[in-house]
Amino acid sequence: MLPGEQSLPETILVPDGTAVNQLFAYLCRQADKKVFRDQAYLLQEIQLHWFSKLRSALQCPQCGSNKLIRKGWRSRRLKSSRGKISLFVLQARCKSCGRYFRPLNELIGLPFAVRFTDELVQKSVEVGLQLSFNKSAAIVKKLTGGTISAEGLRRKICQVADSLSFPGLPAGKTVLVDSTKVKAGQKQRGASVHLAITAEEGSKKAGRPSIKKRLLHLHVGGVHRLYNVLSALQPKRLVHDGGEDYTVIAKHSQRCRWHLVHQLKHYLWQDGVPHDIRGRCQESLQDVLWDKRHGQERLATYIKDLEKLGLKQSATHLKGAEKEAFTFKKKGGFAFSTTSPIEREMRELNRRADVGVRWSEKGVENVLKVLFHYRLNAGLINPIRLTELLR
Ligand SMILES: [Zn+2]
Repeated sequence: MLPGEQSLPETILVPDGTAVNQLFAYLCRQADKKVFRDQAYLLQEIQLHWFSKLRSALQCPQCGSNKLIRKGWRSRRLKSSRGKISLFVLQARCKSCGRYFRPLNELIGLPFAVRFTDELVQKSVEVGLQLSFNKSAAIVKKLTGGTISAEGLRRKICQVADSLSFPGLPAGKTVLVDSTKVKAGQKQRGASVHLAITAEEGSKKAGRPSIKKRLLHLHVGGVHRLYNVLSALQPKRLVHDGGEDYTVIAKHSQRCRWHLVHQLKHYLWQDGVPHDIRGRCQESLQDVLWDKRHGQERLATYIKDLEKLGLKQSATHLKGAEKEAFTFKKKGGFAFSTTSPIEREMRELNRRADVGVRWSEKGVENVLKVLFHYRLNAGLINPIRLTELLR
């Protein structure tokens, strides 16, 4: 500690010794208990009512008979973020075969497999999308009255991921694609995540322009799946960083101008160009690529100059991109001519994927799919209804 520095208090919050805090905690517990009791009672009343109404329509799962009698209650415990809730489900006995069962479970929304309230699952999933499953489970335990295991959370996210589908491609939107490696699967280098989004200028927020993005596709593995998806969507305008060839898939494809400049550095290095000159070459290429009027002709000259100087790798790099460097100018309607809106998403992706463990390919895909659905697509079609998804 430095001289004059204040020591930190033992706890940041007020300790629970003060009367008002104790009283508040006590009242919360009592209120919860009463609500839980009333809720359980109300649910019993509903079941009695339904059983008398539906009696003749209910069937024994074993013999199909509808001669049923009521036979007490079975208790069920649900985990909620306010603690465990005890509920009672109606039990019946078949007079023909003697089988005991609970005929109203599905009807009241309590199938046997349901162990958590939706709100606890929703909260846990939202934390689990941001942090490792172990950390998320610990946080849920600390901040709510409920618990979920790391494995339970992984399974819930898997269920949500399986139920999600990607929206189609609205006409006229600019598609941006990118991929990155994540530490997943068997290979030492990891596996590739492929992402495709649409992006367009959004409304100004606090005076700053925003970008409206939608997730079109995400998967972990070979690029062919992305090819198949995009081929089916037939994008009119697509921007990419040159990692793959998209000229056959998109009607008009644009190479990211920022990447062309950035990548040039590597090729200049391969051609043996000294460090300080590389930077100046990049600057002049940027000037060429951002020249909307004469850029295309100037690029051709630039490539010729590289060839004359014997800088083969650099010339080849730009020659390969020459036809796609000014598509945005020639064809119009491009919302972007760089992949920067998707780069922002890739950083978010790496932040979640890079948690120090090796994932399974399916595991990391599930988390990323749900994460980007929440980030980009939630509210687009319908908000995620866990009630429907998880039952
Ligand atoms: Zn029966």
